[in-house]
Amino acid sequence: MSQDCLFCKIVKGEIPSEFVYQDEHCVAFTDINPQAPTHVLVIPRTHVASLDESSNNEKALLGHLLLAAAEIARQNGFAKNGYRTVINTNDDGGQTVFHLHVHLLGGRKFIFPPG
Ligand code: 5GP
Ligand code: ZN
Repeated sequence: MSQDCLFCKIVKGEIPSEFVYQDEHCVAFTDINPQAPTHVLVIPRTHVASLDESSNNEKALLGHLLLAAAEIARQNGFAKNGYRTVINTNDDGGQTVFHLHVHLLGGRKFIFPPG
């Protein structure tokens, strides 16, 4: 855990958030500034700053976050229609919160490449 990390505070319940999904390794909650009808952030319970800061130690955890996102998409009924998963990394990648997270966006059509 990182003392000053916003998402660590959400994991610990210091910032009240409604979890749409949780298990032993991750929690998921709605993005405060949603970019789609469903916009969920899937984050590890442990503090990992970014994909760039990840190593083999996080290999299973990274897979777990993606499988959790897929499960949330199924639970919300848009898996078959499709969805977008995004991990923004560092400055050029548009990362603003440095606690690793997978964006899960669903409920509308997305274009590629993103801006
Ligand atoms: P990033 O830009 O790092 O890929 O994504 C960070 C996301 O966290 C943004 O989409 C932003 O809207 C979201 N966010 C920032 N602060 C909060 C917060 O306090 N609560 C929630 N639910 N989402 C947040
Ligand atoms: Zn953190």
